[in-house]
Amino acid sequence: MIYLENEFWKKLNSYKNISKSQWEDWKWQIANRLVSLEDLKIFFNLSESLKNAFLKTANIYHFGTTPYYFSLIKEYSFDDPVFRQIFPSLEEIDKNIQKGSYLDPFNEEKLSPVKGLTHRYPDRVLFRATNFCSVYCRHCMRKRMFLEEERARRKEEYDAMFSYIRQNKNIKEVLISGGDPLTLPNKKIEYIIKNLYEIKHIDIIRIGSRELVCNPYRFFDEELLEIFDKYDKVWIVSHFNHPNEITNITKKAVKNILSTGTPVLNQTVLMKGINDDKYIMENLMRDLLKVKIKPYYLFYADPVEGTLHFRTDIKKGIEIIEHLRGRVSGLATPIYAVDLENGLGKVPVFPNYVVEEKEDYIIFRNYEGEIVKQAK
Ligand code: SF4
Repeated sequence: MIYLENEFWKKLNSYKNISKSQWEDWKWQIANRLVSLEDLKIFFNLSESLKNAFLKTANIYHFGTTPYYFSLIKEYSFDDPVFRQIFPSLEEIDKNIQKGSYLDPFNEEKLSPVKGLTHRYPDRVLFRATNFCSVYCRHCMRKRMFLEEERARRKEEYDAMFSYIRQNKNIKEVLISGGDPLTLPNKKIEYIIKNLYEIKHIDIIRIGSRELVCNPYRFFDEELLEIFDKYDKVWIVSHFNHPNEITNITKKAVKNILSTGTPVLNQTVLMKGINDDKYIMENLMRDLLKVKIKPYYLFYADPVEGTLHFRTDIKKGIEIIEHLRGRVSGLATPIYAVDLENGLGKVPVFPNYVVEEKEDYIIFRNYEGEIVKQAK
């Protein structure tokens, strides 16, 4: 776990003269996002190649980060896992590298009976509340939204989505996502959650948000915590990809969320040059548990246009899960899964531990590769 030394904060302070309470205010973090080359120049000297990558790519897929998330960078280069997740690279717009990718591989738009709502599984819907995020991740599975205007949906759009959910009693769970729904003002968040909460057949309101990673001060906001407390169907699913993203502030933020009775889970995306290493992944899973976040899914990177350079071999994820099994607590082992194209659903992918099955015995392979014969 990283303890912020406030070095970055001091540097920022020398330019902007901000107070600690401003830094710890989630609204300040969003209002003071770094969005341009000029903003970045305050912190480091950009090489010509970085400038070139930024100018050519950010024009198409825009750039944005909270100062907090930016402060987690240790080295201003693509070798740094945080830098690599937010700084625009030429690979995103290289047609050869991006060959075989799609803007919307899961047909989220086609499977939308109402604008903003995707109904892909019988009992669940995806509720896209906004196009805005406080950090624009280069690997985003909804990168197509980078091409649209940054805006939250209007009340009438939400109302049409509620009405569809009300009429479809098979729906038990709503995943509120975006963009990042927790960048919305509390009033809007409460409006959405309250309406969903009051639909009797909805058991779970899952919020997919990266605010815990890139703006954990969001969860220092008493008003938001009261909303979680009041509407007790809420679950938070976060998106940590590297141990460098977990700090002492994360720990405080998670503690605040848990104090409202809201569980916190995590989904990680397996990405080349960021976490495609079994030891990094082991540390990530261990550190998540230390701050009381349950690792839930490890996703094989999706074939999304502009993100294919992050994709690994599928075997890499199996190797990681094999490494985790037996070395870390079962609590720390996520489900490795592939999301099938065209909205055909998620498939879990497991290492195979059954070597052979006979009429009266089975031969297993344990996590150390030992072969064990066991009667049926
Ligand atoms: S915060 Fe989530 S929705 Fe927003 S860019 Fe990152 S991954 Fe995509």
